[in-house]
Amino acid sequence: MSVVASSRMVLRVQKFGGTSLADAERVRAVADHVARVHRSGDDVVVVVSAMGKTTDELLRLAYEVSSAPPPRELDMLVSGGERTSMALLCMALADRGVDAVSLTGSQAGIITDTVHTRARIIEVRGDRLRSALEQRRVPVVAGFQGVSVDRDVTTLGRGGSDATAVALAAVLHADVCEIFTDVSGVFSADPDVVPEARRIDRLSYEEMLEIAATGGRVLMLRSVEFARNYRVPLEVRSSFTWEPGTIVTEEDPSMEQAVVTAVTHDTSEAKVTVSGVPDKPGIAARLFRALADEAVNVDMIVQNTSIHGTTDISFTVPKADLSTAVSVCERLRGELGASEVHSDDTVARVSVVGAGMKSHPGVTATMFETLASEGINIDMISTSTIRISCIVREHEVERAVRLLHRAFQLEVPGEHRHPGRTGSLGSSPTIPR
Ligand code: ASP
Ligand code: MG
Repeated sequence: MSVVASSRMVLRVQKFGGTSLADAERVRAVADHVARVHRSGDDVVVVVSAMGKTTDELLRLAYEVSSAPPPRELDMLVSGGERTSMALLCMALADRGVDAVSLTGSQAGIITDTVHTRARIIEVRGDRLRSALEQRRVPVVAGFQGVSVDRDVTTLGRGGSDATAVALAAVLHADVCEIFTDVSGVFSADPDVVPEARRIDRLSYEEMLEIAATGGRVLMLRSVEFARNYRVPLEVRSSFTWEPGTIVTEEDPSMEQAVVTAVTHDTSEAKVTVSGVPDKPGIAARLFRALADEAVNVDMIVQNTSIHGTTDISFTVPKADLSTAVSVCERLRGELGASEVHSDDTVARVSVVGAGMKSHPGVTATMFETLASEGINIDMISTSTIRISCIVREHEVERAVRLLHRAFQLEVPGEHRHPGRTGSLGSSPTIPR
C-alpha cells in the first residue's frame, strides 16, 4: 500500500528522528536513502531532529549551570541540536552528488508566537523552499525550531520536529509527509508490552489522534492535529528497514473499519480527588478555573451523583502537574466546602481505540468484562466516540494491555476487521461484541 501513485513525480517531506541520525553511520544511511529517492525523480524536503539524545543532554547541561535557565536561552541552546544534524546530512548528501542546502527554522520561513520552549507556528513562508525545489535542490530543514514575531529563536516543544515536517508538507502541498523513526509504524499496542502486537497498515487521523493522546509515543499529538486540519497524508515508517509503514489519512467510508485498532497505555498521569464538595452550581467551575489559571492540564474528570447533597470530584493530571494541582485544591478546600483532597500517583490509563466502535455497541462491555475476568479494578472511565479509557492500578496496566489485545484479537491479521458500512457483525465468532 502506498499513499502516492508511483507513475508521476511527487513531493515528499521526509522527517528523520533522533535515532535515525544517532551517529555518522546513520547519517550516511539516511543520505543514501534521500539520494536514492531524489535520483528517482521525486522532489524531497528533509526535516531533521537532533542526533540521538542530544536534546536531553543539552537540557541536562542547562540545568547544571542554572537552576532556572531563561526560556529564551534554552531555545537558543537546544535549537543547536538540529543545526548539527542538518549540516552533517547536507555534507553526506554532497558526497553523494546531491545538491542539498541546510536551512534553520528561521531560514525556512517558520514563524512562531513568542512562547519560548513551546511556541506555536503561526505562519510558514514557503518561498525559499519552493525556489530551492525549482532548482532541483534538496532543502534540509532543522526541525523543532522557528523564529518568533519578535525575531528570537523559538522551539516547538518536545517532539516538535514532527510538527515542522507536517507544517512544511501542508504549505508546500506535499503528496506525503514521511515520518522516519526506529519502529516500522504504529502498532496495535506497545511491542515491548505485547510481543505479538502488529503494525497497523492504515489509520484515520481521528484514530491516530486518540492513539497519540493516550500513550502511543510515535507521533507528537500536535503534529497529528495539524495533519488532520490540513489533510496532509502521513506515513510512519522505519529508517532502519525502509519497509512501508503505517499510513494515516482521512477515513475512507468505503473501506473496512476496525472495531478496535489499538490498545494504548499511559503511566504519565496521576489522580486527584476532592471529596465531600457541596452539590451546587459553580463548584466545578470555580475549581477548574483555578486549575486552569495555574496552567494545570486536566484530562479525565469524574463527578459522582450526590446522594446527601455532597459529591466527589476526581480528575487526572500529568504527574509533573500533580503538586500544583494538589496545592490549588487545598487552597480552595475551605471556600468550596470540601472535606478532603486526596492524590494518587500509582494509577495508569489503558485505552482501546477504533473507528468502527462508532457503529458497533458492545466494545465497552467486552473491555470491562475482560478486565473484570482477571480481577483488574476500574477506577475511572472516560469515552469518546472512538475510544474507551479506564484508569487502573499502575502495576496492573501492562497485564490489562495484554488481556485487551488478546480479547479484541489484535494479534490476528485482519480478523478483527469487518465491513464498516453493512453494520452487520454477521455470525463471525471472532468479532467481539
Ligand atoms: N530534538 C527535539 C526533541 O528531542 C525535537 C524532536 O526530536 O522532534 O524533542
Ligand atoms: Mg521525536
